[in-house]
Amino acid sequence: MTGTIYVVGFGPGHEEHLTGRARNALVASDTIIGYNTYIDLIRPLLTGQEIVRTGMTEEVSRAQKAVQLAEEGHQVAVISSGDAGVYGMAGLVYEVLVSRGWQSGDHPNVEVIPGISAIQSCASLLGAPVMHDACTISLSDHLTPWEVIAKRIEAAAAADFVIALYNPKSGRRTRQIVETQRILLEHRDPNTPVGIVKSAYRKGEQVVRTTLVDMLEHDIGMLTTVLIGNSQTFFHGPLMITPRGYERKYTLDTVTQRLRPGERLHVENEPWSLAATAPKASRSTPPISETPSPTHRQEPSNRSTLTARDWADAALARIAGLRPSTAEATARAAGGAIGSVATIPAQTRQAAMFEVAVSPGVANKRITTEQLLLLAEIAGETGSVEYTPAHQLILRARTLDAAALVGRLEAVGLVVQPVGEVVRVKACDFCDGDKAEGIPYAEEIHRRLAGLGVEKELRIGFNGCAMSCYGAVHEDIGIVFRKGKVDLFLGGKTTGRNAMPAQRVAEAIPAEVVPDLLERIVQRYRAEAFPNERFHKFFQRVGVLEGYAHKDAPAAVVADGVCGT
Ligand code: SAH
Repeated sequence: MTGTIYVVGFGPGHEEHLTGRARNALVASDTIIGYNTYIDLIRPLLTGQEIVRTGMTEEVSRAQKAVQLAEEGHQVAVISSGDAGVYGMAGLVYEVLVSRGWQSGDHPNVEVIPGISAIQSCASLLGAPVMHDACTISLSDHLTPWEVIAKRIEAAAAADFVIALYNPKSGRRTRQIVETQRILLEHRDPNTPVGIVKSAYRKGEQVVRTTLVDMLEHDIGMLTTVLIGNSQTFFHGPLMITPRGYERKYTLDTVTQRLRPGERLHVENEPWSLAATAPKASRSTPPISETPSPTHRQEPSNRSTLTARDWADAALARIAGLRPSTAEATARAAGGAIGSVATIPAQTRQAAMFEVAVSPGVANKRITTEQLLLLAEIAGETGSVEYTPAHQLILRARTLDAAALVGRLEAVGLVVQPVGEVVRVKACDFCDGDKAEGIPYAEEIHRRLAGLGVEKELRIGFNGCAMSCYGAVHEDIGIVFRKGKVDLFLGGKTTGRNAMPAQRVAEAIPAEVVPDLLERIVQRYRAEAFPNERFHKFFQRVGVLEGYAHKDAPAAVVADGVCGT
């Protein structure tokens, strides 16, 4: 009769976590070989099979016994906890077979049946701590030199792997976990989340949430797996969660910046990707070593491949070379001016792009040379400056000190706002200041509301005269200022094929009451909007805002596409 060896991983210990294939293999076997405790764990499934029990240290003899019985024609199940291929019996069975000249396909048959390994079962009890690149390291130095284990811990720690420590400690092996913690602390924040799981899905199950610095204060033993988070892992109540990826961007007041689906794959939003960091091979560098003179201009030989940006970069590099301390001095003078910049964990900050919206002012539309130079310097090689429909420049820069960066921008008179789902106040230029009467009101509204977080970006347009040439009536909320009075427009649908101006809900409101009025409307939207609900939808749903009723727009006329009638 053909003998078979089933190498069965039975999972963490509970019957429900045993796979169907593992169960069938146990039933189909006439002999089961395993460590005493494991036999006890699967006892409810046994139907009179021969049991070969051995102690923990007799793994080799268990494997030999299995091979011998299978060669005699028996159906033998060798059981391992978790997965038999993870510090389990699978490799050992093959080693014994290979030493006897066995080849794949020879008698006896071997089937390795996968099981749920401790890294997975323990992770499930903690939340979702694995999620990202992870590794398992066994701290048992019985069969592996400690030097090798220490190197692996070091490498995994440095490479920001989530780490599952198997065999972390036993009665005699107590120093390994202490040494492991020491190595990890050289690379990871002391507050890195750590989960300690003992006897997952078995009697005596224990789940402890702690941090790297405190982990040794808890009970760790042979039945324990220790899960070390990566730099992004966090606790949410009892849950230990590792995000799917690294934070790409952040802005004022927040640690994360939500990206719209289409934005995710842009190279500038993945500054760490290979595509973004690849050298620009075909570009040549402008000849900054030569002094260009207006009369005898030194043309770069391959001029067509050089962009304005290349020239600007070269000029800036030159300026930076001449005046290295100017920027630093400005930063120091302005440092820490903004208290609201989120505290970003060091590891996150290194990878993420800081982005803010900047403008020369609420009414002022003129950007000075000094401001432009500063923006270019801050954006540098890896950042960018983007002009948006909201009359703002979005500055993106990698920085380790966002507060100092904001301080520098404000020191040259730039207005700095967060990006994303916030209130934006977009005023006209008040005819370059000729119609300045409305400016204080626009500034007051900006001061109170701009940058507040909302479900969906809320644009408030403020125009200084009835011409409304900056299109206030096309915004979510429009304000048209006329001789100390204000016409109020609510609920514009600012985008889409059926975009529509806002409804004129009131005329000639005294300007003094408008900031309060708008504040009440915006606060209600902030408090009551559904997730992702735009302001025009919100207005339609609630029906009345501050006494102003929503009116449905007239139904669209469906024209004949061919005849146009
Ligand atoms: N083959 C097993 C690992 C065997 S090594 C697997 O894939 O899970 C033994 C180590 O596994 C233990 O020291 C412990 O670190 C871990 N382990 C196995 N079962 C566990 C359980 N139910 N709960 C917690 N840790 C477990």
